[in-house]
Amino acid sequence: MFCPECGSTDKKMVGDICIDCFLKEFQMIELPKRIEVEICSHCNSKFEEGKWSEENIPEEEIIYRALERNIKIADEVENEIINLEIDQIKGTISTCFVEVVGEVHGTQIDETHECEVKIKKTVCPSCSKMQSGYYETVIQFRADNRELKAEEYAKADEIVERTLIKQSKKDKLAYCPQIAKLKEGYDYYIGSFKSGRKVAESLKEEFGGTIKESPRLISEDKSTGKGLYRIWISVRIPEFEVGDFIKYNDKIVQVNNIGKNSVLGFEISTNKKQNIPMKNIDEIKLIKKSDECETTTIISKSPSVIQILDPVDYSTQDLEMREDFESYNIGDEIKFIRIDNYIYLVN
Ligand SMILES: [Zn+2]
Ligand SMILES: [Zn+2]
Repeated sequence: MFCPECGSTDKKMVGDICIDCFLKEFQMIELPKRIEVEICSHCNSKFEEGKWSEENIPEEEIIYRALERNIKIADEVENEIINLEIDQIKGTISTCFVEVVGEVHGTQIDETHECEVKIKKTVCPSCSKMQSGYYETVIQFRADNRELKAEEYAKADEIVERTLIKQSKKDKLAYCPQIAKLKEGYDYYIGSFKSGRKVAESLKEEFGGTIKESPRLISEDKSTGKGLYRIWISVRIPEFEVGDFIKYNDKIVQVNNIGKNSVLGFEISTNKKQNIPMKNIDEIKLIKKSDECETTTIISKSPSVIQILDPVDYSTQDLEMREDFESYNIGDEIKFIRIDNYIYLVN
């Protein structure tokens, strides 16, 4: 066969020309001279193919991936080995070499390309939201019918922080740009609704109580008609605390645990365990606080009766003996609570 380019007649032909003439013009890979990668200078996530993704990738890895993504290999290439190398990094620009060894129509060839990768530092939408104090949810942490205590605020702060750290692994808007400390309680501003809801659930898990969500329309996008909502989540913890006396279903119960889904305690007249579902919290009435307990002395005891002295009027009171009071002795101090003119011994 005759090559019209070089005139040779004894070479392998590729289409109309010989292999040598073909390879003169042939490039195994195509690679732009310059590639730009946009990364967020706060969270290191990068912008590619129209979206922000992946946090905290080392810069070198970002460069390698940018090169890989931009290499186009010609169909004729077989058994190729591609070697990427960062030659030097000057500021935001890295000079890189891409070396390719491969076979084309049975001939092994190699090629080296030079490429500059520029890393453009910007701020991703999530980080810019965080910087501007953007929030989707406000958690109103309150106590029912009473003021919150310093230790309850401290515990709540800790729970909010812990929950957001956990959430931040999957939600970039898991942050709290502001805590408004009001007389009636704290308002925790949370970046996303999703994480806000998790925070509210964690608070309820610790303190019990009720959660109520109320969305408010903030503004409307005129072009799409879609509303921008912010959601207020009220977390209202119970008025009663551990140790307090409550009334539920006509039973007087001393509370010994407040959980996410139930209130546990003992009925004070029988010492029987009680489990009250949190959903019935509206039917629970606080009767006495734990610090309203009084102390007195046992003056006599029999198998059926325990007799105490009422410290208010020094009268003697006969109370029914109960298993849990059997170990007390005459002269021992014992606590009691006065409810509706009746005295209940407290363990
Ligand atoms: Zn030729
Ligand atoms: Zn970012």
